[in-house]
Amino acid sequence: LARDTSTRDASAQASPADDSDKPALSVRHLTKTYAHATSPVLNDVSFDVPKGKVFVVLGPSGSGKSTLLRAIAGLEPIQGGTIALHGDVIDEGKPGRLTGRSKRASALRTRIGMVFQSYDLFPNKTVLGNITLAPTLVLKRKSSDVRDEAMQLLERVHLADRANSWPHELSGGQRQRVAICRALIEHPEVLLLDEITAALDPEMVREVLDVVLELADNGQTMVLVTHEMRFAEAIADHVILLEDGSIVDSTDDPKEFFTHPQSERAKKFLGSFE
Ligand code: ADP
Ligand code: MG
Repeated sequence: LARDTSTRDASAQASPADDSDKPALSVRHLTKTYAHATSPVLNDVSFDVPKGKVFVVLGPSGSGKSTLLRAIAGLEPIQGGTIALHGDVIDEGKPGRLTGRSKRASALRTRIGMVFQSYDLFPNKTVLGNITLAPTLVLKRKSSDVRDEAMQLLERVHLADRANSWPHELSGGQRQRVAICRALIEHPEVLLLDEITAALDPEMVREVLDVVLELADNGQTMVLVTHEMRFAEAIADHVILLEDGSIVDSTDDPKEFFTHPQSERAKKFLGSFE
């Protein structure tokens, strides 16, 4: 696994003025407790993701990684803290708001894209239908434009020849690549990826990770959860380690983190993959 950072840095420099200097995503003092739970699942979590960077969230099972991504995506109400995109606060914790979706979920859905572990394509839509549904139906974009863009995206993930296939005709790796296209067609400012290769057979992991590496090279801002440590090392600009809903390690030097972990927690976590 390799990553061409030269192109990516160049593209980031090519457009310095198109956004404010605010981070693409800023999470501040995020606190979440599930209904009926006695302790918070996320406890005072804060971090910034600069535009065009890849932020990797690591942590043992149950540490709160999926909850964090779902909260950012507006799929989980939060009880404290703020979530901002380029400085716009898009969600604010309200104490006592334990259930229901974020009030901002609909406003968020075009600015944040998310792909889950289990490819959740609509079984009764073709590949093309899955990708074009939301932009034409919800965003009311012109259907021929959406179709053209969907075909370009499918070419990027090497699936143009499967445009008219049905989800059940595809392999797991192909379905995940379609799910990525479905997120990308909404031009998300931040793309959230939650263990998108965890349910795949080993021989399909690579084809999906290669697509994610290419997105990184093209400057897509991403927050991703993965158990593929070599991939994390190759793609990360920043790494955090979650434990019991708190950030226990955080670094801008992923190479150092993976090759010479400093904290006992990082050593223990990385040791569990050897
Ligand atoms: P991870 O993705 O790191 O494995 P999760 O965010 O899925 O962790 O889960 C963190 C904790 O929250 C776990 O203890 C889990 O059992 C609990 N949890 C997850 N989803 C729910 C839910 N919908 N209701 C109550 N508790 C939940
Ligand atoms: Mg999870």
